[in-house]
Amino acid sequence: MTYSQRVLNELKEKNFDQPEFIQAATEVLEALAPVVDNDPKYEKAGLLERLVEPERQIMFRIPWVDDEGKVHVNRGYRVQFNSAIGPYKGGLRLHPSVNLSIIKFLGFEQIFKNSLTGLPIGGAKGGSDFDPKGKSDMEVMRFCQAFMNELYKYVGADEDVPAGDIGTGAREVGYLYGQYKKLTNRSEGVLTGKGLSFGGSLARTEATGYGLVYITEELLKDHGKNISGARIAVSGSGNVAIYAMEKAIQLGAKVISCSDSTGYIIDENGIDVEAVKQIKEVERKRIKEYVTTHPSATYGEGSIWDVVDCEVALPCATQNEINKERAQRLADTGCYAVCEGANMPTDNEGIQVFLDENILFIPGKASNAGGVATSALEMGQNSIRSSWTFDEVDNKLKGIMINIYYHMKNACDEYDAKDNFVIGANIAGFMKVADAMMAQGIV
Ligand code: NDP
Repeated sequence: MTYSQRVLNELKEKNFDQPEFIQAATEVLEALAPVVDNDPKYEKAGLLERLVEPERQIMFRIPWVDDEGKVHVNRGYRVQFNSAIGPYKGGLRLHPSVNLSIIKFLGFEQIFKNSLTGLPIGGAKGGSDFDPKGKSDMEVMRFCQAFMNELYKYVGADEDVPAGDIGTGAREVGYLYGQYKKLTNRSEGVLTGKGLSFGGSLARTEATGYGLVYITEELLKDHGKNISGARIAVSGSGNVAIYAMEKAIQLGAKVISCSDSTGYIIDENGIDVEAVKQIKEVERKRIKEYVTTHPSATYGEGSIWDVVDCEVALPCATQNEINKERAQRLADTGCYAVCEGANMPTDNEGIQVFLDENILFIPGKASNAGGVATSALEMGQNSIRSSWTFDEVDNKLKGIMINIYYHMKNACDEYDAKDNFVIGANIAGFMKVADAMMAQGIV
């Protein structure tokens, strides 16, 4: 049995009740096989065994009081996975589905994503099973304060810098930051995605979605295709989806769909992003509201990937949206590129279909890295107590995404895996972390 297979088997046994973590680890360890199984130094140093075990995982009680005076208790998590190349960095997810398996899969992915950006940031993730939907602003504030009452002991500008994710936007980051400052008396860049009036970076809101489209544009260009005129399907209608749609439309693409956790809309006239922003960002309503003002659009329930026909797919909602059957459907209906905006939206069988069908596929750890890259730029601006213009940040973001593309592509070439960006992204992300871990001794 090879080294990578042995570590994967042990991981499956030890974490048998964590399917999402096992799924993410399987993808990574299989992709790393050509590197780690051909050089005994990694096995001797127990490198994979150390890589798949978080440096630290914290779980805690979050008691908070609702508007009626009733007490609720949620569970909080922070998994500090790997700090070999810099302070821990990764978002906080607030969603009822959150559990340790989901936070570990996200934290594990974050190690390689952060490394791919070329910036000095380690991997972490956190969150809670709290559901912000339907809560008043004051309830969300009290929850965020209670969350930070415990979290502040483990985070800091040079230690661990959380950010947003599903359910955690500018409002939640603001409340979390306010409570951190209250508890520690420190004004420091302990969170990213902050408001512009207290240390936030221009273009951070747009960064993940814009970055996704920049790397998609480069992928298409490199394969003789053009994003302008491409028929694009998007899922989700949150932060990543909205700004992916905005940038794709700016570049001349025709975006025909988006969705939320209840259903999807298809608008053959092209999605009106400003209307989606108003419904989802301002009014916090369901996406089906869109059809009341846009008669050209249709609304349906279920998954967008069961119905939409497109040339380019940008899944931007959540993990495991696209399985084998949906991947095959996309291939059969003319889709030629899939770039992931969400984390792990395609399951491993779905990915295999894309690879077998020669669909250009970029995994989320590379294609959605623009968000964390811009968060690292926010950390840089906080450290030097300065701020850059929107265009400065956006240009740096674009440069980082193009670098990630060629970094991945070079790794594909080196390991004889032409256009297999699953292998390219994982190896390119792994090498820097592995070098740092080897250099720092057995810690
Ligand atoms: P948001 O909370 O802003 O939006 C999430 C969107 O996905 C919403 O439209 C939501 O619908 C939908 N959604 C959430 N859960 C489900 C589900 N179980 N089934 C169907 N739809 C669902 O989150 P983000 O846009 O920030 O994040 C989206 C994805 O991108 C996540 O995988 C996240 O980890 C990843 N990501 C985000 C980054 C960022 O900077 N924000 C950076 C890198 C990755 P509804 O409105 O009904 O809740």
